[in-house]
Amino acid sequence: MAYDDQNIFARILRGELPAIKVYEDDQVLAFMDIMPQAEGHTLVIPKNPAVTLLDLAPEAAAYTIQIVQKVAQAMETALGVKGIVLMQLSGTVAGQTVPHVHFHLIPTNVHELGKHAATMGDQEKIKAQAELIKAALAAA
Ligand code: 5GP
Repeated sequence: MAYDDQNIFARILRGELPAIKVYEDDQVLAFMDIMPQAEGHTLVIPKNPAVTLLDLAPEAAAYTIQIVQKVAQAMETALGVKGIVLMQLSGTVAGQTVPHVHFHLIPTNVHELGKHAATMGDQEKIKAQAELIKAALAAA
C-alpha cells in the first residue's frame, strides 16, 4: 500500500506533532497511546515508512520486535503489570486506524481491554506512567 507521509505517526516522527515518548533510537520510537485501552498503553513504531507489518522490511521488523520486548520488560518493572497484550493491526479491515505500522503494548488481559482508539486518556496520568517506563528503561 502507498505510504501517506502526512499520517499522524509520520508527523510525530518528524516532530510536527507532540507525543509522550518513552524510548527512541535511530530506528524505532516508543510513545504512549493518546486513547489508551488500559493504563500504560504504549505504541512501538519503526521509523521506516511502512503502512502495515506486511510492508515492513524483515530486518526492521526483527529490530522493532526486540524493542517491543525491551519496552514490555520496562513496563512490567515500572507499572507492576502481570500481563501484556501485544496487538498489531495490519489493514483497515483489521481495524488499523493509523497507516504507519505499529505494535500496541497493552498491560491488561484481553477480557479487560477498553474499546480501541475510542476515549481520550488523562494526559497527565499518561505522562506519569511514561516517566516510570523511561526510568525502568534507563536502569535496565
Ligand atoms: P491502530 O488502530 O492503527 O491499530 O492504532 C492506532 C492507535 O493510535 C490507537 O490506539 C489510537 O488511540 C492511537 N492514536 C491515534 N492518534 C494518536 C495521536 O495523535 N497520538 C498518539 N500518541 N496516539 C494516537
